[in-house]
Amino acid sequence: MDSIAVKIKNASKEYTQKSKSSLVFSDINLDIFDNEILVILGPSGCGKSTLLRTIARLEKLSGGEIIDAGEKDDSKAGMVFQEPLLYPWLTVKENIELGLSFSKNFDAKNENGTKKLLQEFGIDQLTDSYPDEISGGQAQRVNLARTLIVNPKVLLLDEPFGALDPSTRTYLQDWLLDIKSSRELTIVLVTHDVEEALKLADRIIIMSAGPGTFLESWDLRSVDSTDESSKNTIKKQILDNYQGSIQNSSTQINKSTDIEETIEILEPIQS
Ligand code: ADP
Ligand code: MG
Repeated sequence: MDSIAVKIKNASKEYTQKSKSSLVFSDINLDIFDNEILVILGPSGCGKSTLLRTIARLEKLSGGEIIDAGEKDDSKAGMVFQEPLLYPWLTVKENIELGLSFSKNFDAKNENGTKKLLQEFGIDQLTDSYPDEISGGQAQRVNLARTLIVNPKVLLLDEPFGALDPSTRTYLQDWLLDIKSSRELTIVLVTHDVEEALKLADRIIIMSAGPGTFLESWDLRSVDSTDESSKNTIKKQILDNYQGSIQNSSTQINKSTDIEETIEILEPIQS
């Protein structure tokens, strides 16, 4: 039996603005297992980013609880956003080491550790470069290195490759699998891209909107990777469910006036 890295129990999140409250997600129950790659798919606005932020303890739940293995109210999770947001006045090395400067991690700072990480991530030639001198794909690798240098137990990736061109995205997906294979790491990845989900995931969960909750999940580890027919059946199920959740959510959104978000939701799924 796999051990649990993070347990989410009856989680819900509500935002209140101008005395109006809206329920972002509710009834979320989930065990995230050690060393798995869990991928979450779901329509825009269903609360995927909010859920990741609560797992990272960047925000509090309104109800329920999130328990990290062995500890409560503390997180060993590192979060990576779609935009690298590197500090332009710091070099690649300085950006990566920034996380270590905070007192809690200060002892972990060591020259050899950073050098090894830069090499492992294939960015050692960029050590002294500034963010405006590197490509988008390189910046995202720096972003991941910056998060992993403090050795989080769980890595939370919020559409990390969504802003990159397709070939860089494919390259970084393979690179992420390589990075993962050489260390103990649990990954929760949010994406819009079903192909990306199928390529990277041990498990896939589809969320629905209004309020966000889990619709369906698939354990891909039980699928024989040489069995094309089973793989296609699962892919079709996932695509159908995902499209269903998007259509359902766009029906709800159509009732509102948020045109931009509707357009994003109705974007065709790449396959
Ligand atoms: P997703 O990542 O699935 O697209 P989000 O988690 O970003 O969805 O957002 C879910 C919903 O919560 C959206 O309707 C969004 O407008 C709302 N929301 C997110 N963050 C806040 C916030 N800080 N204050 C108020 N509403 C928010
Ligand atoms: Mg999001």
